[in-house]
Amino acid sequence: MKFPIFKTKIEGVRKTKAQKNFVLGRAHKVCAPKFNLTDPKDRKAYFELKVGLEIKKLKEYLKENTFIAYLLGKKNSGKGTYSKMSAELIEPERIDHFSIGDMVREIDKELETPESRKELIHSLEKQYRGFLPLKEAISALEKRNTETLLPTELILALVKREIAKREKKTLFIDGFPRGLDQISYSLFFRDLIGYREDPDIFILINAPEKVIDERIKWRRVCPLCQTSRNLKLLPTSKIGYDKKMKEFYLICDNPQCRGARMVSKEGDELGIKPLKKRLVLDEELMEKAFSLYGIPKVLLRNSIPVEEAEKFVDDYEITPEYTFEWSEKEKKVKIKEKPWIVLDDEGIPSYSLLAPPVVVSLIKQIVEVLSL
Ligand SMILES: [Zn+2]
Repeated sequence: MKFPIFKTKIEGVRKTKAQKNFVLGRAHKVCAPKFNLTDPKDRKAYFELKVGLEIKKLKEYLKENTFIAYLLGKKNSGKGTYSKMSAELIEPERIDHFSIGDMVREIDKELETPESRKELIHSLEKQYRGFLPLKEAISALEKRNTETLLPTELILALVKREIAKREKKTLFIDGFPRGLDQISYSLFFRDLIGYREDPDIFILINAPEKVIDERIKWRRVCPLCQTSRNLKLLPTSKIGYDKKMKEFYLICDNPQCRGARMVSKEGDELGIKPLKKRLVLDEELMEKAFSLYGIPKVLLRNSIPVEEAEKFVDDYEITPEYTFEWSEKEKKVKIKEKPWIVLDDEGIPSYSLLAPPVVVSLIKQIVEVLSL
């Protein structure tokens, strides 16, 4: 599976003479604008500059049309982030996002109340075609623990029901159904593709395991509002220092929140270790999806070899790494920022891209696939 590097770099406009003199005598001929991508205002201007035209085309397209995009990538590869960010940019009213995992959890709730249970079973009777009697399939759903797997046919019927609920909407469907082997996986998508008459697209996401590992290890969550950030890669604006424990912590800066000390979830310190098997399976399923004909594919990559970076991306599009120091004298935390270099799955020193440039590449590729 080869994921091409997508160019999001903008070759700058020529500088005026005055600006040129400003750069300490160095003969910089060009200057491209710089953006702080963690700032919402800056981010808006960034998208306007890099994909303004494409967003306009998509807005126009979505007035009369829809499409379905299936997001495929390893756990924690950024599926939710990328799809939500692009929906936000294009047309939040007309785009819906749902994940298969959330869907299955929702079903549990529906089965609890008699009315919604009846409605659910009724709709499944229409959609379900499987080798287990529907009754048994539903009881598998109810008695589900992490070990028992749901029949593929049942998941299919449930996904179709979700799609049918959102008839006039463009959909981003997030994630592999759990526990699919290669054969049921092919069945799953062959059956779904073309279920609705609008175009469907596979969006495949490639993120190095080392990136996924660090995202989990340094993840911090607000106990009050559940906002999730990362101590090393995506800190909040306020950092605290616990002298007793000799550790730094994030203070939630969600304006709707009371600023709690963010904590790590149990098991996160292990990173991808407990996920290894799952990631291998996810990789196999991605390969399978990649080889499926009859559906256009959008390929997104999270990383870029350090050596290639200058040609393809602007430096503010790269994920920095943050470190902290406590200054006893000033009684405050000092924050340091430097480029973060990780080895990709082939062992090549790479940068990890922030979400916005990946979304730029996503939007441009969708426009191309839809020939807008
Ligand atoms: Zn909070």
